[in-house]
Amino acid sequence: MGLLNNFLKDKIEEVRFKIDRAAKRSGRRFEDIRLIGVTKNVDSKTVIEALKLGITDFGENRVQELIKKAEEVPGANWHLIGRLQTNKVKYILEKVCLIHSIDRLELAEEINRLAKKLDITTNVLVQVNISGEKTKAGIMPESCEDFLLALSKHENIKVRGLMTIAPLTDNKEESRQIFARLYKLFIDMTRKKIHNINMEYLSAGMTNDFDVAIEEGANMVRIGTGLFGSRYIV
Ligand SMILES: *Cc1c(COP(=O)(O)O)cnc(C)c1O
Repeated sequence: MGLLNNFLKDKIEEVRFKIDRAAKRSGRRFEDIRLIGVTKNVDSKTVIEALKLGITDFGENRVQELIKKAEEVPGANWHLIGRLQTNKVKYILEKVCLIHSIDRLELAEEINRLAKKLDITTNVLVQVNISGEKTKAGIMPESCEDFLLALSKHENIKVRGLMTIAPLTDNKEESRQIFARLYKLFIDMTRKKIHNINMEYLSAGMTNDFDVAIEEGANMVRIGTGLFGSRYIV
């Protein structure tokens, strides 16, 4: 308990320091950046410790894990950051504060249908495949405007911004280009002033590239390893 606490404390401090530095480099403040602790393969006990240490937002990429941890860790904000199957929407709608991975109309329609039934509005981000990698989810940047126009008709969905996953690379300048392109798209879409579309959040950057993502305009970062250590089963 004490050891875990110290480990987490150090990691959180380190991540916050880097967020602060990157925010300042891009003319913003620490408070302008929202930190999501990614808890895949992290047990609920550890998540509770992180919550006590001031991390308020957590992300899961699996529906089952999100449901379980949302129950075991009350008082936290939960984000779904991974691919969402249409038939699983019903399990999470009342548990998530933001779904980062809207990548097809069929999924948006199902969210809207169920949210309407529950009389709630679901906050979502549109996932964009900036790098164009075949293995990555997300819409192509050139379809973004049409996609947003289609989403804007769904009154029980609120689009709050964009999300991307950059290619895994040690080359920060490569990542920087991806984030810069995402930011440009974000600004372009903001200027369109589409009904029911709010361009507030830009979710980009993970442990190995969040500093660069922030420097290039991201204001929401998703960090797993950097906070919890390498608990990932590969
Ligand atoms: C796992 C994951 C992260 C966090 O990755 P780390 O490299 O451990 O920080 C962020 N976003 C998504 C979508 C993920 O699946």
